[in-house]
Amino acid sequence: MAAVPLSFEFYPPKNDEQRAQLDRTAARLKEYAPEYVSCTFGAGGSTLSYTSETVRHLKQDHGFDAAPHLSCVGGTREQIRELLKLYRAIGCRRIVALRGDLPSGMGHPGDLRYASELVGFIRAEHGDHFRIEVAAYPETHPQADDALRDLQHFKAKVDAGADGAITQYFYNADAYFGFVDAVRKLGVDLPIVPGIMPISNFSQLRRFSEQCGAEIPRWIVKRMQAYGDDADGIREFGADVVAKLCERLVAGGAPALHFYALNLARPTQAVLARLD
Ligand code: FAD
Repeated sequence: MAAVPLSFEFYPPKNDEQRAQLDRTAARLKEYAPEYVSCTFGAGGSTLSYTSETVRHLKQDHGFDAAPHLSCVGGTREQIRELLKLYRAIGCRRIVALRGDLPSGMGHPGDLRYASELVGFIRAEHGDHFRIEVAAYPETHPQADDALRDLQHFKAKVDAGADGAITQYFYNADAYFGFVDAVRKLGVDLPIVPGIMPISNFSQLRRFSEQCGAEIPRWIVKRMQAYGDDADGIREFGADVVAKLCERLVAGGAPALHFYALNLARPTQAVLARLD
């Protein structure tokens, strides 16, 4: 497989045990020399300080180029302004800008309604200081009115000043290629990096996929079900499937690969070990 830049996504640990796990994972994945790592953000501010602390730690103690995710839902302009100042002070040059999903029961939708407004806000406040990544949905965002409008909404984020996009994960390479073709026809020419979800806990992945609208093809579900309690079989098959997906994506022109590492090294390592 041609060498492409890699990035790894982590979530912010909240206790000592999780912090130790992230440290082990970061140390193991460092050997792949990722272009950058990113750290998720709980919409509505639920991980506000954890995300910034984790980004600082990944930069200062692990030496990564670390990018915070920043979601606007539930937040005020002032809160977002303060966070941007903090990230700039820490030395961040890249941000993953999202709308996020408001946790149920949280009333205030926030000052900015969509990721396109957040991208515009970051550009207005900080010019070109940050490289801005936005989310893309090859299988259509689950709340979109329809697939074509979703493409237009994606384009609005690009027009507002995004520099690159990372996709929701998927297991069907044609969904990615179809999405890239469709947005190129709309005049979008920024890099669209596939988000890769290694398969470790299959039942958890199935539940999560239903919520975020990612389809797991029937043939994969059937094979996984057939493995039953055979955890090794699931791991091996999952790593084979995801490695083949990565090979197809890169052969078809994907400019980089972004792994949803979820603070575990092994599932990502198992995929990368199968790739040249
Ligand atoms: P948007 O681009 O704003 O789109 C959201 C929906 O609104 C879409 O259906 C879109 O079609 C529609 N829409 C957009 N503009 C308009 C408009 N003007 N009028 C009408 N409809 C419109 N979530 C987190 O909480 N924290 C994270 O750290 C996080 N990281 C992520 C990283 C990646 C790479 C990805 C792919 C997703 C991540 N998410 C995260 C999930 C994301 O927040 C959710 O998918 C969320 O529902 C949408 O966010 P968005 O930025 O894509 O929203």
